[in-house]
Amino acid sequence: MCGIVGYIGSREAWPIVLNGLKRLEYRGYDSAGIAIINSAGFSVHKKAGKVACLEAETADKDKSGHVAIGHTRWATHGAPSDANSHPHSSNDNRLHIIHNGIIENYLILKEELLARGHTFKSETDTEVLIHLIEEIQNIEQTDLLEAVRLALNTVIGAYAIVILDRENPNQLVAARKGSPMVIGVGQDEYFIASDATPIIEYTKNVVYLQDNEIALIKHNQLLIKKLNNVVQTPLIQELELKLESLEKGGFEHFMMKEIFEQPRSIRDCMRGRIFPLEGKVELGGIKQYTDKLKNAERIIIIACGTSWHAGLTGEYLIEEYGRVKVEVEYASEFRYRNPIISDKDVVIAVSQSGETADTMAAIEIAKERGATILGICNVVGASIPRITDAGVYTHAGPEIGVASTKAFTAQVTVLTLIALFIAQHKKTLPPAKLIDLLTGLDAIPDKIQTLLQDNELIEQIASKIKNATNCLFLGRGFGFPIALEGALKLKEISYIHAEGYPAAEMKHGPIALIDEQMPVIFIATKNSSYEKVISNIQEVKARKGIVIAIVTQGDTKVKNMADHCIEIPDADEAFLPLLATIPLQLLAYHIAVKRGCNVDQPRNLAKSVTVE
Ligand code: GLU
Repeated sequence: MCGIVGYIGSREAWPIVLNGLKRLEYRGYDSAGIAIINSAGFSVHKKAGKVACLEAETADKDKSGHVAIGHTRWATHGAPSDANSHPHSSNDNRLHIIHNGIIENYLILKEELLARGHTFKSETDTEVLIHLIEEIQNIEQTDLLEAVRLALNTVIGAYAIVILDRENPNQLVAARKGSPMVIGVGQDEYFIASDATPIIEYTKNVVYLQDNEIALIKHNQLLIKKLNNVVQTPLIQELELKLESLEKGGFEHFMMKEIFEQPRSIRDCMRGRIFPLEGKVELGGIKQYTDKLKNAERIIIIACGTSWHAGLTGEYLIEEYGRVKVEVEYASEFRYRNPIISDKDVVIAVSQSGETADTMAAIEIAKERGATILGICNVVGASIPRITDAGVYTHAGPEIGVASTKAFTAQVTVLTLIALFIAQHKKTLPPAKLIDLLTGLDAIPDKIQTLLQDNELIEQIASKIKNATNCLFLGRGFGFPIALEGALKLKEISYIHAEGYPAAEMKHGPIALIDEQMPVIFIATKNSSYEKVISNIQEVKARKGIVIAIVTQGDTKVKNMADHCIEIPDADEAFLPLLATIPLQLLAYHIAVKRGCNVDQPRNLAKSVTVE
């Protein structure tokens, strides 16, 4: 969600910041802006719309200079407009700020500042913060770092900020609380960004700024302090990220590339963790919590969006194989009710980015009440892995498409591993069955590779239903979470209204919607609910609905009923979520492309949801 890029050093800052903003486009945003200092003076350029609009608007402007800050905004306070775009400036136009997050007490602060004669050019909370910093600096007669520190001590909310002072062009001041920020360390230069993607082409050495830290950044100096004024020693870490993983690699969209990467990403996720011949799962990250997990009274999975759907597959898998009671909670609900949690509970927080604000807040509540907290995240070093007791990384690699694909299947893989890990230690499965399941899991990447060959067929089906206004996705058992995820994928990127339902629930409501215009996508593979799903298909056909069915290879029964069928390789039903998801991702992708939608950056959506 929203992006920050900054540079201070001897290179030309504009291209670094502009390209950095482009790298961050995947996070989702609605406007962009850059402020730059050079020997001739100073300029701020900002514009609603894509980074390309800002680029076009500034094509003939002087953009030389060695210090700059840039921002992509995901509006929270005030509509996406030129005026509300960042950077925002102080009353005297000396200080300029970019900000990710929300200043919750901005209204009170704004009223106070208005009463003292400040005037505002935008509706944002961000502008209030920079006016407050300016005022403190003037009253206290301090340097910028101290003024920022004092101001942030009065602020409630979440932020990653970078401030540029036109009177003091050799420094930037940055701070973070609840919103990520990485500082790239070069040779007499520093790069600042919301994640490492804009930095990787310049340096592999980074410092992750921590919550409640502020930094003074000069081309040859990095000073980090806590908000309580205690100086910190910067911990320089090496990035594992590869530049190629941020490129499209010949695919038209990142989403397509990421769908096709899944045989690899699932293999990476399992690497060194499964030993099929021995019937063994090893999860180094949570090893020391083995007893906690197997003796847990209850496992609570907390997540949002697609990760919540992965969580639901986790419930089915863990209850089936590990025989531990599982509840799956929306983090945003969990955090605002009064959940009953004890030290016998294990909470598993699932988040691709590891920065999801609601999930982080839910973790804090569960922690306060004594639960053990484990995390499943994709981004190494993100906030959630830092606040959990232990965790398992999904190792899917950077996911740039806003609508999650490979990160979802990697989350499901990790949850499958956790279910089998519990089963192994709790002995809830006969060893032969465990060997069988692990052998089956090991074969999944190859099966996905095979089913990706159906891409063309799926594209043809997409052509047939691309003009639908509503779609229903139905499944039972392990097929139900996949129906939910299939519907979410379609609505996220194609803007077709779609709903996922347990197939048997159809008759309790959604059946009223079915007519000859309504595509109904069934997960109808050969598993324990196969015959029941067939009855549901007949109910839809009887009402002239268009049936698209995901079936097991070689199926003839459903084929005789459905309008279109997509075959998936036969596998144990535990692996249905991993296999059946793939054609649904492809279907959503092709429908969205045919409707002319921006699949990698769907409207209104953000990748890493750092506001609540
Ligand atoms: N709250 C700020 C605004 O609405 C920052 C939003 C963002 O994180 O991009 O301008």
